[in-house]
Amino acid sequence: MTSLPDGGADLDVDVLVIGAGGCGFVAALAAHEAGAEVAVVEKLPRLAGNTMLSSGSIPAAGTRFQKAVGIDDSPELFAADLRRTAGPHEAEALVDRLAATSASMVEWLADHLGLPIELIGAYKHVGHSVNRLHAVPSRRGADLMQGLWQAAEDRGIPVAFASPATELIVEDGRVRGARVATQGSEASVIGARAVILACNGFGHDRELLLRHAPDIAGAEYFGALGSDGEAVRWGEALGARLANMGAYQAHSAIAQPHGELVTWTVVEKGGIIVDETGRRFADETLGYSAFAAPALARGGRIFAIYDSRIREATAAGQPDFGVLVAHGGAPDYVDAASLAAACNLPADALAGTVTEAGRVAAGEMADPLGRRQWGMGPLQGPLVATRIAPALFHTQGGLQVDDEARVMRRDGGFVPGLYAGGGAAAGVSGRAGGAGYASGNGLLAAMGLGFIAGRAAARDGLAG
Ligand SMILES: Cc1cc2nc3c(=O)[nH]c(=O)nc-3n(C[C@H](O)[C@H](O)[C@H](O)COP(=O)(O)OP(=O)(O)OC[C@H]3O[C@@H](n4cnc5c(N)ncnc54)[C@H](O)[C@@H]3O)c2cc1C
Repeated sequence: MTSLPDGGADLDVDVLVIGAGGCGFVAALAAHEAGAEVAVVEKLPRLAGNTMLSSGSIPAAGTRFQKAVGIDDSPELFAADLRRTAGPHEAEALVDRLAATSASMVEWLADHLGLPIELIGAYKHVGHSVNRLHAVPSRRGADLMQGLWQAAEDRGIPVAFASPATELIVEDGRVRGARVATQGSEASVIGARAVILACNGFGHDRELLLRHAPDIAGAEYFGALGSDGEAVRWGEALGARLANMGAYQAHSAIAQPHGELVTWTVVEKGGIIVDETGRRFADETLGYSAFAAPALARGGRIFAIYDSRIREATAAGQPDFGVLVAHGGAPDYVDAASLAAACNLPADALAGTVTEAGRVAAGEMADPLGRRQWGMGPLQGPLVATRIAPALFHTQGGLQVDDEARVMRRDGGFVPGLYAGGGAAAGVSGRAGGAGYASGNGLLAAMGLGFIAGRAAARDGLAG
């Protein structure tokens, strides 16, 4: 923390956004639309945050996209789904606010920014009782981000790359801007009447992970390199309240050795997960994030086993998975015996597992592990195997914000002039662990709080 230099700031804006990810762009665009002069600074030399890596699925309830195909949804149903998945946590007040804002935010992306948003019909994913995930047609966060960046360019919003904010400027307890390092020249000071922290969480900071989410600190990190926890460190120094710090999104299925995501759709359509003894060890329908805990506890090699029908149906709707298939990451085998031989799994145990799973999926017996959903039914030959490993995607704990995305203080009240969204803010995925994460909670907090923060910060910034 530092104060303004005697000569004043090098640049003055109404709203400074720190971080050019999904949250940062939405916040900047919303603030600009509300009449504020805005600048965005980005640590990395190009767009490379988590939103770029994501599948770009944004949950929203009651949208015109849902209504067009007869899906009856509401913010109340969405909020109930989020609460059921997350259980009790420290950011409960945000749940209703994010659910209520979600439809207008997604429709704004389409109608005001011109992004080709559509409802995902092929899957609901974890935690949602109706289809409410929305995305661009490619289902790639990179395309979502290109659309946001283009919208910012069209509006003349400056985005400075390779320009990390290194400390916040604070005067009389109010945040007034940030010091920004720029390559090859002296650090500059950007003065602002409101600052939005859109710099994501602390997934890439081992010290913060060990302190707040030690259960996942040993997993591979699959998120973006810029997530170094500045929001948490700066917030703590300003007396901000942290919430849900042990919560995170994990994923159980990173293809080995390809390093590409195996969409959980293959499990939802009937796939199973086995360990190196050839046996299942947990209910796969816990979800891709929740399943990471039993997978990590199991250790050793684990495999997703599905079949060629599931592979083709999934690849048809999810191009990234199609790339993995094209790279040989989802080979098929005529039967369980040849799969076992190729993957060095015990043949008898694997055959028994596949047979038993088939009987459960056909409704002939109850699943000893409690699974009830079997998608396309019993697996059929040819069988497909992908070796997988669990990984941390992003942290869900962070600065506690109110329903205007203002950063709250530990002793009550707010840090004046400071807003946070996305991974910088505490999310709505439970208090700790990966089991409370409903699909899309990452972008719900990024785009939803960005939308809210941008407007609120513009009001603040324009009021002086
Ligand atoms: C593989 C993968 C798939 C995912 N799929 C989905 C999905 O489909 N749906 C979903 O909801 N969520 C998904 N998530 C989670 C989601 O991507 C994140 O929760 C979300 O993108 C966070 O958005 P953000 O804007 O807060 O962060 P980011 O998109 O990471 O943006 C933050 C930016 O701030 C920059 N930055 C950091 N520190 C500074 C600093 N000091 N100064 C300047 N800039 C800084 C970073 O470099 C980064 O560019 C996925 C995550 C991963 C890893």
